[in-house]
Amino acid sequence: MTTNRVRHIVVLGAGVIGLTTALSIQERGGYTVSIVAEALPTDPKSIKYTSHWAGAHHVSHAKGEPRQTKIDQDTFRVFWELSAPGGRAEHCFMRLHQSEFSTKVVEGENSLSWYPDFKVVEQNRLIPGAAYGVEFSTVTIDTPAYTNYLLSRFLAAGGSVIRGSVQHINQVVEGGARIFSDPKRPSPVDAMVVCTGIGALTLGGIEDKTVYPIRGQTVLIRAPWVKFGRTINSHNTWTYIIPRPSGDVIVGGTRVENDWYPIARSETTEDILKRAITLCPELAPPEIRAKCTPTIDDVRPIIIEEGCGHRPARKDGIRLEVVWFQGKDKKVPVVTNYGHGASGFQSSWGSAAIAVELLEDSLIKSKL
Ligand SMILES: Cc1cc2nc3c(=O)[nH]c(=O)nc-3n(C[C@H](O)[C@H](O)[C@H](O)COP(=O)(O)OP(=O)(O)OC[C@H]3O[C@@H](n4cnc5c(N)ncnc54)[C@H](O)[C@@H]3O)c2cc1C
Repeated sequence: MTTNRVRHIVVLGAGVIGLTTALSIQERGGYTVSIVAEALPTDPKSIKYTSHWAGAHHVSHAKGEPRQTKIDQDTFRVFWELSAPGGRAEHCFMRLHQSEFSTKVVEGENSLSWYPDFKVVEQNRLIPGAAYGVEFSTVTIDTPAYTNYLLSRFLAAGGSVIRGSVQHINQVVEGGARIFSDPKRPSPVDAMVVCTGIGALTLGGIEDKTVYPIRGQTVLIRAPWVKFGRTINSHNTWTYIIPRPSGDVIVGGTRVENDWYPIARSETTEDILKRAITLCPELAPPEIRAKCTPTIDDVRPIIIEEGCGHRPARKDGIRLEVVWFQGKDKKVPVVTNYGHGASGFQSSWGSAAIAVELLEDSLIKSKL
């Protein structure tokens, strides 16, 4: 750094990416960090805030791609620490045994082999319909609880959060965070980080046309007896069971590109439940399973909600770059950290670390 002056950084977006990035900057020291966002973790669930809808589990989709693998591994290390018994955020995580089945055999080394306790499932233990399976230890995340944990950690360390709907990057570059709460007193900004998820498609100054939604629909059920994670991937469906520490279980799912429909479709819920009870009969209450083979009618009484979210996908994956914008009297670096698709939680800390490096390099370049 070239100066000891405290720098003012604005993070745009308060989803898992904005919150993790804001915390990562704040915890470096030497910055005051403000978040500006239209939707916050404390709001009711809405289609404008994907992070509330995620399962979520840490099961990397990196498929061996080096940058994404490192991002996911770095995040896993942080989650493992946070989820430790007595750890800082133990209540947000469940450490568990995960099985990933597939209708196709995976040749060569499996890209998930770095997870603890990794094993290929023996043929005689494969579930019906599976041709291949692996098992390992990982974590699931109670996403509403975890985003609120991140928010409270950020606020407790002196961060500020301002609700605002930003039309163009220049509004913040010139006016800072405070113009959204106190328009008479614009505040200075030394740099910005854009973590707007699907909002990057329309945000003025970014308008990234390679960003698109992958709609995912899920059903939340109450089944505290389920303590393991299980997924089956086939060529056109993806069915998963993700238990949370609260005893709720996320059952999914769907992935439909460019489907903007904002609420659950009842026929999709039926399809998800049918696939889920086949994959995991243990979803039904134990007393029913003791008497007969369960059906989806045994799961209906324990449904809490159905819903959907728009995974913020991007053609080339996460955009981690610096773009310069002209402010009132200087150029301001704007770091981008969006486009996490189906992996926002499991890549949150790793991508935030790269965003912080980009931010600090650009501040050195601009001699701020
Ligand atoms: C059904 C489903 C299951 C999933 N399962 C998993 C999983 O198991 N593991 C995993 O890692 N990921 C999972 N995901 C993906 C994960 O949810 C996303 O990748 C992640 O939530 C993206 O976070 P984000 O912060 O980029 O976006 P969001 O959470 O959408 O946050 C965006 C923020 O930007 C703000 N914003 C946007 N535009 C503007 C603007 N113009 N002005 C002001 N504020 C703005 C919004 O208000 C919000 O605060 C799942 C997603 C779905 C839908």
